[in-house]
Amino acid sequence: MFSKFKLACSSLCIVSAITANLAASDTRQEIQFPDIPGYKTIIADFHTHTVFSDGLVWPTVRMDEAWREGIDAIAVTDHIEYQPHKKYVSDDHNASYQVALPTAQRKNIMLIKGTEITRDTPPGHFNAVFIKDVDPINTPDFLEAVEAAIDQGGFVFWNHPGWQGLKRGDWKRVHDKLHEKNWLGGIEVLNGGSYYPQAHRWCLDKGLAMLGNSDYHSPSMLHHSETGDHRALTLVFVKEFTQEGVKEALNDARTAAWGQNRMIGRKEHLGPLFDASIEVFPAHYKDRTNLWVEIKNDSHLTYKLKRTGDKGPGAITLNADARVIIRVEDVSENTYIKLEYEAENVLIGPDEPLPVTLTIPR
Ligand code: ZN
Repeated sequence: MFSKFKLACSSLCIVSAITANLAASDTRQEIQFPDIPGYKTIIADFHTHTVFSDGLVWPTVRMDEAWREGIDAIAVTDHIEYQPHKKYVSDDHNASYQVALPTAQRKNIMLIKGTEITRDTPPGHFNAVFIKDVDPINTPDFLEAVEAAIDQGGFVFWNHPGWQGLKRGDWKRVHDKLHEKNWLGGIEVLNGGSYYPQAHRWCLDKGLAMLGNSDYHSPSMLHHSETGDHRALTLVFVKEFTQEGVKEALNDARTAAWGQNRMIGRKEHLGPLFDASIEVFPAHYKDRTNLWVEIKNDSHLTYKLKRTGDKGPGAITLNADARVIIRVEDVSENTYIKLEYEAENVLIGPDEPLPVTLTIPR
């Protein structure tokens, strides 16, 4: 009797678990970042792996993950030179894209065709995205491989430059060569949990796109330790959200890298992004010398502000998708108040936080 009941219960539980799962798999957690003047802000991951190289997931799973995590565009970039599962799955270098595409279309995810050119450091690992066919890129000479990607209209960037130490991952002659030929479009300043300040500097000096990518090999869920965790991602400021539009933005270096509540980029993009994210309301309450003001953050980044001017609290945390109230001391009535801060977790250069102004409207 008891065991029968238990059996009925467990099969019921399985049915409801499956139903719940089906529903959950279609739910997208939105990533909120506002557009900036002249450009739409989209969220991309240009570096992921599947079982067709050394990844541990089937390519369609990457599309499901992208949908659920609020990602707009993704590239599957399996290694050309490293296919440890080829005894069990095809060694066709174009397979992961072909397998993923129908799911990407159904999930409304922009799938960008890509691959990883995987060489010892230097030169290191490079992703080629917006390519058409991986096979011509599968050639022993490194520069010929890059050229084959460029010939197809590809965009090539340097992955995790410091992953084998800063000395090996330094900017070398081979990188000069790539840069001189205009073949190097960008560098990962963020890869997973790693930030490469020297790459940030190279991008600023040489006009290259800054990328933040997950480089996921295992299922995305294994990387998330708490709710709200997200993978390293690239914000791309596009004129139009098409493959050509994303590529144009990368070539124009209109990107920022976002990971571990840190935003890495250029002042010309991150200043407008802050201004579009933050709304400062007129004071809702005043006494003789203080006023109280609401500040709303309409973005997915929690801004950590440190005062640089002479007014306002010493530090303000503007939580993601939330409002805070601050008290401003020593104010005389009817003044138009500008509070000067720097956003400590928004870097416009290595060790260079973004200066910001909170203007309290009258
Ligand atoms: Zn990789």
